[in-house]
Amino acid sequence: MSLSFAIIGGGWYGCHIATSFRSLGFGVTIFEQHQRLLHASSGNNQFRLHMGFHYPRHYGTRMQSRDGFSRFVERYPALSSPIAQNLYAVPKGDSLIDFLTYKLIMTSSGIEFTEMASVPDVLANIEGCLQAPERVLLLDKARRYFTERLGPFLITGHRVESIEERGDGVYVDGRRFDFVIDASWGHFTKPPIDLFYEPTMLLYYEANTPFPAVTLVDGPLCSIYPTEDPLLYTLSSVPHTPLGRFNTATEARAVLDNVDSALVATKVERMEEHISRYVPGFKDVFRFVGPQLAMKTKPLGSFDDRSCYVYKNGRVFSVMSGKIDTIFFSVERILSMIEAMGGEEPMRNVPSGLRAEILGVNSTLTSA
Ligand SMILES: Cc1cc2nc3c(=O)[nH]c(=O)nc-3n(C[C@H](O)[C@H](O)[C@H](O)COP(=O)(O)OP(=O)(O)OC[C@H]3O[C@@H](n4cnc5c(N)ncnc54)[C@H](O)[C@@H]3O)c2cc1C
Repeated sequence: MSLSFAIIGGGWYGCHIATSFRSLGFGVTIFEQHQRLLHASSGNNQFRLHMGFHYPRHYGTRMQSRDGFSRFVERYPALSSPIAQNLYAVPKGDSLIDFLTYKLIMTSSGIEFTEMASVPDVLANIEGCLQAPERVLLLDKARRYFTERLGPFLITGHRVESIEERGDGVYVDGRRFDFVIDASWGHFTKPPIDLFYEPTMLLYYEANTPFPAVTLVDGPLCSIYPTEDPLLYTLSSVPHTPLGRFNTATEARAVLDNVDSALVATKVERMEEHISRYVPGFKDVFRFVGPQLAMKTKPLGSFDDRSCYVYKNGRVFSVMSGKIDTIFFSVERILSMIEAMGGEEPMRNVPSGLRAEILGVNSTLTSA
């Protein structure tokens, strides 16, 4: 009989885990509190399929992103598209690292890029610049792709209230499963690490002409990134996008619920001022369209760890998402933890047969 899994959360992680487990022949039921998939942070972000360029301060994140990028393009070829010009630029003076160090970190991590011979004219106050083959995630297609594949196993509009482990399994709102995977990004059970909830505001802009993606690294800087909609971009700023840090998701949600037009106007002014320092023609090309509100769940720490982690408590797995490119790691960790549960105990007292095997082979070789 195949194992049954309840998955809490229909974001990128829940959807990827559910389709992967279906391919392996497991029984899957996915619970999503909203009426559609990819409704929360998975549908409200900068839509960047990372390769690792964002994370010069965290080796593990770079490795997960570098490998996750190739695997994502192979597994979901229709769910991202290339970007004509995608620049990672290190500003003079304002960056936490210099351009040579940044470039060396990316080279030594095996991340593919082209160094720009000169800084493009659209940029100012820049020490050096790379062109990166990253891609943009296609949200609308992804939503349709997962809805089609998961339709019969999907329960939308259902907010999971309780999970309870009993002798014969684990019960989700009274329904029995072999295992539960909490892919709610820390909104149902809290992963056992120090973390905080960060409400965020990105800004959508329309360009009057195609413009390169520009990401200033590393530190309290900003970026412009395209969306799947031609000429629609997001503007993000490390100091201005976050709307606070909170110990609970409820407190963070209250901040999002109270965003008003005055706050949006302030953010527009500050973020435009910020990006204009490095893209002086920003206001000539871009027109503000509206805000995008979302929430991040982040581990405490200043070196920017955005890797994916999986924790296990009995029959309940809790996934602490990294970025979207790191979804593959979650499936592998869950499968290997399940494998270890079955294998460890029965094998503990079985003596090794290695010595007998070696002696047996040697005796036939030496007796000739
Ligand atoms: C401003 C911003 C910019 C970002 N930019 C990028 C980027 O460019 N590239 C990138 O890779 N990542 C980016 N990220 C991070 C990325 O969005 C997340 O890593 C990813 O979406 C997390 O996916 P998830 O499935 O774990 O969580 P979510 O997408 O948040 O999904 C969790 C789901 O669980 C559901 N849920 C919660 N509780 C319950 C319950 N009790 N019962 C039922 N359902 C429940 C929620 O409704 C939600 O749909 C960004 C995030 C933000 C906020």
